[in-house]
Amino acid sequence: MSEILKFQFDRPELTRPKEYAARVVYSEWLTPDTLKIAFEPTEEPMFGFVPGQYVSVLLPKDEEKGLRKELRPYSMWNHPDEFEYVVTIAKMVDGGRCTTLLRNMKEGDAVTFVGPLGSFFLRRPLHPHLYFVATGTGLVPMRAMIKDLISTGEINDCDVTLYFGVRSEADLFETAELQRWNDRFPRFTFVPTLSRPGEGWTGARGRVTDHLAAIDFPVDDMQIYLCGNGAMVNDVVELMESRGLSRRTRRLVLEKYFG
Ligand SMILES: Cc1cc2nc3c(=O)[nH]c(=O)nc-3n(C[C@H](O)[C@H](O)[C@H](O)COP(=O)(O)OP(=O)(O)OC[C@H]3O[C@@H](n4cnc5c(N)ncnc54)[C@H](O)[C@@H]3O)c2cc1C
Repeated sequence: MSEILKFQFDRPELTRPKEYAARVVYSEWLTPDTLKIAFEPTEEPMFGFVPGQYVSVLLPKDEEKGLRKELRPYSMWNHPDEFEYVVTIAKMVDGGRCTTLLRNMKEGDAVTFVGPLGSFFLRRPLHPHLYFVATGTGLVPMRAMIKDLISTGEINDCDVTLYFGVRSEADLFETAELQRWNDRFPRFTFVPTLSRPGEGWTGARGRVTDHLAAIDFPVDDMQIYLCGNGAMVNDVVELMESRGLSRRTRRLVLEKYFG
């Protein structure tokens, strides 16, 4: 049985994925090319999901433009206990079909999505050392997972480190909450790192992979969650495999957004 099917079998309270009619509840630009947007189901209540899962926005068929019906996945930023709607953060992709749709959406606009989907979620029992590695909007599902660790109190039982890599200060988003969690929970460490920082940046520098390469990982006692662009995910998988952490275990869990 596949892991996701087994998971759904183990959690019968989970909503099965289906199509939802929804409307935009709010949208907010976090950076010039990063949009936070929330969708509320209009015809039925919000579904149950597991932190880390995603929904797929449905792009309708457009015969005039010769476009097929298509789906575009977006991870859920929110924790199931937080809101009666889906919150995501979308990176605007040049010329992207869903990008164009989201960019022009206003409060109240109709949208259709399919969800909840995906098997990028915390693998329990947790190990004593948890690493989360995100580039760009790969941060989205990780925020939901870490919020879950806080809700359950597990944030106090494990050493949890979150690496968040972007290019420059201008590309950072939603770091204030993570910084607050860093200050509040002694075993949680948040490391935003910039590959091209400005002169005034006093935080970590370099790509996330540079930081990881320097770590002596507790390979037998850890789990690592990777999300973001495919190049980063591939590099980290290669690094972890070279340290003896197999991709086949439940301790190396990944979601590739693109590439
Ligand atoms: C499981 C999953 C969850 C995801 N969650 C999120 C999320 O929470 N936030 C988010 O911002 N993205 C997320 N993505 C990526 C997101 O689905 C794509 O960026 C999105 O599909 C782009 O759609 P589009 O219609 O605008 O572009 P398209 O019309 O599909 O593509 C336009 C062009 O851009 C290229 N392209 C497509 N995606 C990207 C990209 N990400 N980066 C660079 N070039 C790209 C294509 O090759 C094509 O040339 C997720 C992807 C997956 C697989």
